[in-house]
Amino acid sequence: MLNLLRWIPAFAGMTILTILAGCGPLVPPPSMHQPARTALLAAQDSSSENNPAFRIIHIDVGQGDASLLIAPDGETMLIDTGPPQTGAQAVLKIAKEMEITAINTILISHNHLDHNGSLAEILKDKVAAQAKIIDRDSAQIGEFLPLEGGVLKIIGVNGHIGEADFTPFVEDDENARSIALVLEYGDFRYFTGGDLTGGGGNPPYQTIDLETPLAPLIGDVDIMKVSHHGSHTSSNPAFLEILKPEAAIISAGAQNDFFHPHPSVVARYQKAGIELHQTKNGSICIVINGGTYEIKPYAIDKCAAPEIPDPMEEMP
Ligand SMILES: [Zn+2]
Repeated sequence: MLNLLRWIPAFAGMTILTILAGCGPLVPPPSMHQPARTALLAAQDSSSENNPAFRIIHIDVGQGDASLLIAPDGETMLIDTGPPQTGAQAVLKIAKEMEITAINTILISHNHLDHNGSLAEILKDKVAAQAKIIDRDSAQIGEFLPLEGGVLKIIGVNGHIGEADFTPFVEDDENARSIALVLEYGDFRYFTGGDLTGGGGNPPYQTIDLETPLAPLIGDVDIMKVSHHGSHTSSNPAFLEILKPEAAIISAGAQNDFFHPHPSVVARYQKAGIELHQTKNGSICIVINGGTYEIKPYAIDKCAAPEIPDPMEEMP
């Protein structure tokens, strides 16, 4: 577990803002909470060469999921593409701004349009021309996907959770077939699992609980992507109790058709003291560097890494 660099206000402050706003726990507008060093960072080059951090960008694709992982050496993995058109537009725009020369791997968590709808369009762009594709048909439990200094491990797919097998019960529920992944980069741990189900639902529709058996295989994490855009089919209490994230990211655009996230799920995270961020105000960066990590709006400085203090300079 790493220390969270808190450039944003404490969770209590966010809760007050949330109550005043009368809706979910939204990230306050960047202008309200920009740290003093933002101006300094804004002037920096965002290329990997000058920012040897590991970065995860939760891209604002409206209703859908798309996360771009960038290793310190510039190797990249895109997890989901977002919906048709808007997903490709957002992903390619950020890839260009981040000076990414190649998207090396594209992992599709499951086959719903809000996750894979822009795959064909993105593959037409030269930045993704050589991308390796991993989907729920090719993913293998226990498979390691290395990125410089870190590793992503596939711990669930198609209703298989470790040794447990929940098929064929999940075959009719595409969400339940999502690929579940743990990223480890140094001491930093992160979970992402598409729209994986946790037993909730809208009766008579009820999802199978894959989160509870998955949780011990994940363990404690620093940050998680909230499964299924904050729907009440996911984020069950037992799951959160074991993962104990400090912060969680909800990928859901403003005024989406599904009214994600669900208020009861938002309340569950708030009650557990987990800092919530949502892509409705734009893309969100996680920058992991030098034993700390930072969560901030992409718009501030395009995921520039904070400068690591030189201990020699602090000596008298
Ligand atoms: Zn989805």
